[in-house]
Amino acid sequence: MALKVAVYTRISRDDEGDGLGVARQREDCERLADLRGWAVAKIYQDNDVSAYKRNVRRPEFELMLSDLADGLVDGVVSYDLDRLARQPKDLERLIDLYDERKRRVFATVTNDVNLGTADGRTMARVMVAFANKSSHDASRRIQRKHLELARQGKPNGGPAPYGWQKDGRTVDVVAAEHIRAAQQLLLAGVRIGTIRTDWQRRGLGHPREGVTRLPHHLVERMLTNPRLCGYRTYRGEILLADDGTPVIGEWERINTVEEWEAVCAVVAERKQKYPGHSLARKYLLSGIARCGLCHSKIRGQVVRPRNPDSVAAKFSYQCSVVNGGCGKVARVGGPVDEFVISLVLAEQRERAAGATVEEVEPWANASELADVEKDIADLTQAAKAKEITVSTLLQLLPDLERRRDELKLERGRFSKARQQTAALGVDSLEDFLVLPIERQQALILHSLSAVLIHPAGRGRRKFDPRLIEPVWR
Ligand SMILES: [Zn+2]
Repeated sequence: MALKVAVYTRISRDDEGDGLGVARQREDCERLADLRGWAVAKIYQDNDVSAYKRNVRRPEFELMLSDLADGLVDGVVSYDLDRLARQPKDLERLIDLYDERKRRVFATVTNDVNLGTADGRTMARVMVAFANKSSHDASRRIQRKHLELARQGKPNGGPAPYGWQKDGRTVDVVAAEHIRAAQQLLLAGVRIGTIRTDWQRRGLGHPREGVTRLPHHLVERMLTNPRLCGYRTYRGEILLADDGTPVIGEWERINTVEEWEAVCAVVAERKQKYPGHSLARKYLLSGIARCGLCHSKIRGQVVRPRNPDSVAAKFSYQCSVVNGGCGKVARVGGPVDEFVISLVLAEQRERAAGATVEEVEPWANASELADVEKDIADLTQAAKAKEITVSTLLQLLPDLERRRDELKLERGRFSKARQQTAALGVDSLEDFLVLPIERQQALILHSLSAVLIHPAGRGRRKFDPRLIEPVWR
């Protein structure tokens, strides 16, 4: 039976210029696997741009490692080492798996390295160490440049925030008036949510054309941005000069420091009063769900309860303009999660049932092992009965015993792999829900590559599973 391999693809920053999209990486890897006589069991595809940033999670890479460890695949094919691992930490986890089981196979299209050999692993460590260093250097250079500009009080170069004209320096008089009016309402006790609804209705607060949805946090930011009183921020914090005073930006101000501080105090006070609203939470289908209209990734977010005293904050999956989406699709999250989990569990049960049928098929070399064992017993018996000499017996025995031990080892591996495949399954919703969210997502990704959420018609309240489209692998 052909070895089963994982194909791993990832987009990296310079790939677009090289025309090395995921599709081409995959084709090249599949061709390579074909040449080696390996069967591609599964494609693992991460979409992050940067594998050297430490905090970037690569869910498909993680899934691939666990499938490799579980024996579901026998090896890895990737375009090159760079796409596979840039962090020494990631490389070492992969190397551990190759150390643990020598039979695993490995190949890259560029043939830059082979983790299947000891020399190859040493080479890979050196390559990753260097790649990592140059990435860090580049990243540090860019950061230093940004910090230098920040210290000089230059705008940060992004699109001008609401309240200023396109140059980011001159105040947009009308917008500034709306900001000040909203701040007055806030000071008078009006909630940000109310201001947000009002702004959305009147089409205010949009830094760009064509943006129709106004997220809560964006409104909060527009009303409390330190930039309003001239403070320059760097990485989200007010930048202090060497003498400890805030760096003042080169743009016109909308608030005095006192006005701005008063607004911030009100917002901070409310957050203390309603804690938990801003607590980051992970959602099952974040990054898996996609908008049925624009296909961008959808994240989960808290929906503030209409009644502020209500504790049970709901969450929803929303196509967000903040993340580059169309902002037109949203769905209450709970029923979507439940529906997708039940689909995935059903599919995995079915798959497990299919595997059981295969399992009835016994280990292929069972009869050879029986023959070898019988030969050994016969010869030993013959020597005892003095039908053959002990010396003849000792000449014949070692080869037979070696073959018997090989076969027994093979049988052991066979049943172990079978049990591991069976152990992968999670049967009930209860089993599923107690797993950590990362594992839950890995299980979902085992069956689905995405979940499309299609727009619901106006006024439709009831959850309609027909609008949730699973994309099976
Ligand atoms: Zn969308």
